[in-house]
Parts: sequence; structure tokens; C-alpha cells
Amino acid sequence: MNPRYLVLALILLLGVAPLLLPPYYVTLLNYIGLYTLVVLGLVLLTGVGGMTSFGQAAFVGLGAYTSAWLTTSEQLPAWLAWASTSPWLTLLVGVMLTAGVALLLGALTLKLSGHYLPLGTIAWGLSLYYLFGTLESLGGHTGVSGLPSISLFGLLLDKGEKIFYLIWAFLLMAILITQNLLNSREGRAIRTLKGGQLMAESMGINTLRSKMVIFVISAVFAAISGWLYAHTQRFVNPTPFGLNMGIDYLFMALIGGVSSVWGALLGSSVLTLLKQWLQDWLPHLLGDSGNYETIVFGLLIVLLMQRAPGGLWPLLVGWLPKRFKARSRGPAVDASAPPLPRREQPQHGQQVLEARHVSRHFGGLVANNDMNLKIHSGEILALIGPNGAGKSTLFNQLSGVDTPTSGEVLFMGRKINGLSSRHVARMGLSRTFQHVKLLPEMSVLENVAIGAHLRGHRGILAAALHLERREEAMLLNEARLQLERVGLGDCLHEQAGSLALGQQRILEIARALCADPCLLLLDEPAAGLRLKEKQALGILLSRLRSEGMAILLVEHDMDFVMGLVDRVVVMEFGQRIAQGLPEEVQKDPAVLEAYLGGME
Ligand code: ADP
Ligand code: MG
Repeated sequence: MNPRYLVLALILLLGVAPLLLPPYYVTLLNYIGLYTLVVLGLVLLTGVGGMTSFGQAAFVGLGAYTSAWLTTSEQLPAWLAWASTSPWLTLLVGVMLTAGVALLLGALTLKLSGHYLPLGTIAWGLSLYYLFGTLESLGGHTGVSGLPSISLFGLLLDKGEKIFYLIWAFLLMAILITQNLLNSREGRAIRTLKGGQLMAESMGINTLRSKMVIFVISAVFAAISGWLYAHTQRFVNPTPFGLNMGIDYLFMALIGGVSSVWGALLGSSVLTLLKQWLQDWLPHLLGDSGNYETIVFGLLIVLLMQRAPGGLWPLLVGWLPKRFKARSRGPAVDASAPPLPRREQPQHGQQVLEARHVSRHFGGLVANNDMNLKIHSGEILALIGPNGAGKSTLFNQLSGVDTPTSGEVLFMGRKINGLSSRHVARMGLSRTFQHVKLLPEMSVLENVAIGAHLRGHRGILAAALHLERREEAMLLNEARLQLERVGLGDCLHEQAGSLALGQQRILEIARALCADPCLLLLDEPAAGLRLKEKQALGILLSRLRSEGMAILLVEHDMDFVMGLVDRVVVMEFGQRIAQGLPEEVQKDPAVLEAYLGGME
């Protein structure tokens, strides 16, 4: 059964709910809708992006107060008077203001790491809350009353069961937009934020931009929820926009399951209903009044976090009969999509990369000392040496992940010292990692499509409205082609994390190829591969070479290197101790010494 039917059933139920339910329950459903809209933003921000925000309630307040002030104030400045005529115009102002504030706060806080980011969100959450309570024009702690109702197509939404439809329409739209966005090129970039930022930057993704995007989207969702709230209540005061509510929103996200869009709906339903019932029933049970519900609720949360740290949604999906579950993981591929345009490749034999006297010091440790090497198009150069010789460090200097302490790196004739890995990727350098870096829960196909990030151009808006189908089909088809090229054509829709380690390395090569590079940097690509797989890898690399690719690879396996590569550079203790043809290097006494010493 297609899960779409479940969504359709939900929409039908929602359609008849206000007609059948008593007003009390309609009001509850309104709250659930309003909360879910905010929590949806948290799913994006925290669940997908890995950033915890305690400050979402403040954005709700911003949306609510903007509209409250504009629709009720007697002394609006003349240039704003146009906005006071309709709540729809104040929504526009509220959304723009919130997006502006979010951009500013994001620029200030999103670079913070670890616990500083959540602390930062608490700080501005509190500031905005106190601002609402302090400004006299916003009514101080008593707030603003007498807000007009929203009217839609001439219909005044002045009752709970009328505005119900508007709230849920906004929510369903937001869910649709979020899902579209996550299943797009921009969405894949966003999904790398949690645990894959170094890799993402190496694929040309601007991770700070992606963070900013979801930060602003989540703030705008919250502001819309605030606007709807303000015109449902027709009254605002600061209380619902404080830190307590910010924490409750996070709880809802955690209860439902922070990594799923539907978890947001489940979480806010459970929290809202549970709080309501506890509030109603506990005084009966305990024969006393008091804030028992908060205490019991706290205990329940702790229990839930213990038992189901992923939230309730994954549990629920686990209980569903098989036929309700989505059949395939990730998007389908259209093999007839036209190919992506290719980069202009350098002439065969042209120098692509040169390291000149590159040194890298880590405090007193000299990890690279005066390293020199050159790579040409149509050539495979192996960088070998015992463990700790400095090979991976040199890779980082060459690919913009790190900056040399001294010396120069030239790529395609341009000095790239100090350029970010993102820029270097754009110029045509693509790499794999010694310790595989992929997104284990994403499908193989989508992981590889991350490599094609720079070959797509459609932005957030096109993604949210799903207007980039053509480009998306081309990107996914490119990923499929590269996966077939490396021999992983059979596992397009498997979870990347379920592949064997050797296959994950091959996946990284496909991802690197997706960028259409002119230089490939492979850090120990054959590690963990079985003999057959190594042979296949050797054939693949030879074929790439004959197509004009320049390849630099770090490798331990001498047999693999010797039969394959054109030249070898040998490192020990951060220095080059030999270079030349494989057979020459193999006989070099210094190399034999280093290897027999280092490989034991
Ligand atoms: P290889 O890849 O050849 O095995 P590496 O380049 O990983 O070697 O490491 C070379 C040396 O530099 C090692 O002694 C390692 O501990 C050190 N090193 C690498 N990265 C860092 C870092 N970020 N900070 C401090 N020391 C480092
Ligand atoms: Mg290494």
C-alpha cells in the first residue's frame, strides 16, 4: 500500500474533524497544528541539521507581535500604514522581519560549535522574550488585545473551527515544502550537516550557507505559527514565547522523533494531549491542586529518552504492517535523463598539480617537511610510506582541507594555499578519505549524488516547490552512471551504511567522480578490499588514466601500487626519501629500510 493513502486519509479526517468534534477538541487540534509548524522547523534544524535551538518560541513571538502591533497600533509610522489594513500584509511583514532577524542571529551564532550554539539560542531567546515584555508599544506584560480575525476570500475566520482549516492548510504546505526540500540537491547538502561537514566542503558544499538556510526556514515556520496563533486568540502577551515554551518545542521534537517530518506531528500531539489530560486528571487522583502535571511530565520524558531515544515515530513505523511501509529507500532514477555538461579537461600530459616545498607543522611536530611533487594529466602517482609518514597530512594540504605552514600548492597553475576545500573542489579536484566519510542512513545513490553538487544550480525555492525535477533527474542519473562505472550498479537504493567497508570506499570514488574532476586524490582506496575488488579497482583506475584523469593515491599495498602506477613518491617522517618508477623505487635501499622498519 502506498503511504500516500495514509496521508490522504489524514487529510480527509482533518476535513471532517471540525464538523464532528466538540469545540474543545477543535481548539486542541488547533494548538497541535500551531505547535507542529514550529516543531517541523526543529526537525529540520535539530533532527536533520544537528543544531539544537531553545529559541524557537521567540520567533513565534516575533511573528505574533509583529502582526499584533501592526493591526492594532494607532500610531503607525506613515511608511508602514499600508500594512495595517489586512493581517495578510502583516504576515508578509512578520515573515520578512523574522527572516532578517534570523539571518542576523544566524550569522552571530551558527558558527559556534558544541554547547555554545544551544547556549547562544537561549541567550537570544531570552532577549527577545524580555523585549516583548518591556516595550511599551507592545503592551508590556499585559500584552495586546483586540486583534482582528483573518479573512480569507471574504470569509471571516473568527471561530476556532474556521481558522482550523487555515492552520492545517499552512501546516500541510510546510510539510510538503520540507519534504521536497530534503529530497533535493540542496536537501542532500543540508543532510550532510550532521556528521559530514568536512566531506561536504570537499564536495564543494557551502555548509554555513546550508545551516543558514534551515535556520531561516525554521524561524519563518515559527513566525507563521505565531501569526496564526495571534489571530486565533486575537490577543498576545509574552508568556507563550518564553524559554519554557522553547524547551517544550524541543520536547515535542524529541518525543515524536526528531529526524522525521511526521514525528513533528506525533510529538506535538502527544505532548499537547498528555499535558491536557494530566492537568485534568491528576488533581482528581491526588485530590489536590498544584503543578503535578509538570513533575509527572518530566518523569515521563526521562523514561521516554531512556527507552526510545529516537522518539515515538520510529517505534510506530516499526509496528506498522509491512505493506504500509515505503517500498524503496530514496528517490528513483530516470535512466533516460540527459547527461550533465562536462568540465573542460586539461591536455594529456599537462601538469595539473604541483607541491613546492610544502611543510606542515603541528606545534613541534613536523608532519610534512619540504615536500615536492608534480602530477600530470593521464598519470597515476602513488604516495607511499610507513604509517605516520605524513601522507594524509599532505593530502589535506593539497586539497584545501588544511593550509601549509610554508610552501606553495599550485593546482591548474593557480596557487591554492589558503583557499578552502570548497574552492579547490570547484576548480576540479576531488577526493576520497582514508576514514570513509559517508552518510550511512542515506541511500547509496543519494550519497554519490552529493559529489555532483557543484554541477547543479537550482536553489532553495525551486527545491521547495519541486520545480527542479529536470536537473534533479540529471544529477541522480549521473550518480547512477558513476556507480555503474565503479561496479556498484546493483546497490543504488541500499543504505550506504549497510555496504561492506570495501564497497564504501568504492562508493567514495564514485562520489568523487560525480564531480567530474581533473584530479582525483584517493587516500588508501584499496584498504579493506578483497583481491577481486582490488583487481577491479586497478582496472578502473587504469581506465580513468587513459581517459586523461590525473590520479594521486596513497597506498600501503605494494603489489597493488607496483603493477598499476606510473611513478612513486616515498615518504618517511614527513620527508620525501625517494621518487621514480615503481621498479626503481622498489630497489632503493632507503625505501627498503623505511618499509621493512615501518611495515613490520
Ligand atoms: P600517514 O597518513 O602517512 O599515516 P598522517 O599524515 O596521518 O600519516 O600523520 C603524520 C603525523 O602527523 C602523525 O604523527 C600524526 O600523529 C600527525 N598529525 C596528523 N594530523 C595532525 C593534527 N591535526 N594535529 C597534530 N598532529 C597531527
Ligand atoms: Mg593516512
